[in-house]
Amino acid sequence: MIPLSIPHLAGNEWKYVKDCLDTGWVSSVGAYVTQFEKMVAKFAGANYGIACMNGTAALHIGQILLGVEKDDHVITPNITFVATLNAIKYTGAKPILIDVNPTNWQMDLEVFEQFLEQETYLEKINIDGDSQFFSHYKKTKKPIKAIMPVHVLGNIGDMDRLVSICKKYHIGIIEDSTEALGSYYKGRHAGTFGKIGTFSFNGNKIISTGGGGVIVTDDEALAKRAKHITTTAKASPMEYFHDETGYNYRLVNILAAVGVAQMEQLPDFILNKKAMDAFYRKELDGVGDIQFQEVSKNVDPNCWLFTFRTKRMRELLTFLNENGVQSRPFWVPMNRLPMHGGYDFISNNDQSNEVYESALSIPSSSGLTQEQLQTVVDTIKSFYN
Ligand SMILES: *Cc1c(COP(=O)(O)O)cnc(C)c1O
Repeated sequence: MIPLSIPHLAGNEWKYVKDCLDTGWVSSVGAYVTQFEKMVAKFAGANYGIACMNGTAALHIGQILLGVEKDDHVITPNITFVATLNAIKYTGAKPILIDVNPTNWQMDLEVFEQFLEQETYLEKINIDGDSQFFSHYKKTKKPIKAIMPVHVLGNIGDMDRLVSICKKYHIGIIEDSTEALGSYYKGRHAGTFGKIGTFSFNGNKIISTGGGGVIVTDDEALAKRAKHITTTAKASPMEYFHDETGYNYRLVNILAAVGVAQMEQLPDFILNKKAMDAFYRKELDGVGDIQFQEVSKNVDPNCWLFTFRTKRMRELLTFLNENGVQSRPFWVPMNRLPMHGGYDFISNNDQSNEVYESALSIPSSSGLTQEQLQTVVDTIKSFYN
């Protein structure tokens, strides 16, 4: 079976992990944690990086940093991995789901802007003695504290427009850039358009620490607070005095060591993925009714996971999995999941479901050989012939 997306551990992983074991620095502090945070932040062009145990934790903390509380609203696209929604639920906030654009599969900014224009009003509220404007949802009279745009599959939507809408409506941006390490919009790295960006190093991502995440920000105060609350909010190096309810969301040194080795290889992984993407696009162009995800000229994507649309998705999915090519359907839209289905879904004609019903991901690991890529293409062609 040619796997869908697996880690590529071809560098110094053994050496650095052995170093942790030899020195006893295996746990929640250590030089690799700091080094990994710095490497990710530098790569993304952000001032600070804060390591977390996974991307979901990073998304959760991102919202706390922006003051998201119980019964506030957080906006997110209806097509994303479930972690985005789960992270909102952890804060007690109520998600508002926005439909996606059927060509690039990112949040539909037309629908988003129309919603803000028609369904919200601006009002000042007091936060820690500071009064600030927030957009409030007319229906609930609660503030919309943040948006979590998702860079679906490492592609990026129109960030100029998103940022300007969010500015106009006073909405803080926490980018779910968990899939977009190595993706750029107009030369700027994903995760650096709002106050906070997040990355994931789960097993299927472009680099992996087994499990892990990093929060990036340019704001020193937010960075300090992020470190504080992800490490149990211990206020003194000596005394066990904790000044708020913190989280044990640390990334351990042994995993950060893997991360450092992976970061060293990231530029090569991106080159491999781009070559893979170009090969798939060339070979599958015009095959059956296959439609590719549209990538704007402004975007330089990391080509993380190759996914296309076809009306015969279900049949092709079965065929590929039965013929040695591991493939997967796209995420079930969030409004169709039992625990997230009750939230408001803003849409003109439910494009999320159309995308879900037709999208399929094929093998995209950066370690795939040319022969394996050819097999994937030949198997897909044999299905349509
Ligand atoms: C992977 C992923 C996450 C969560 O990351 P974990 O590290 O698995 O917790 C969140 N959102 C999206 C869109 C993802 O793909």
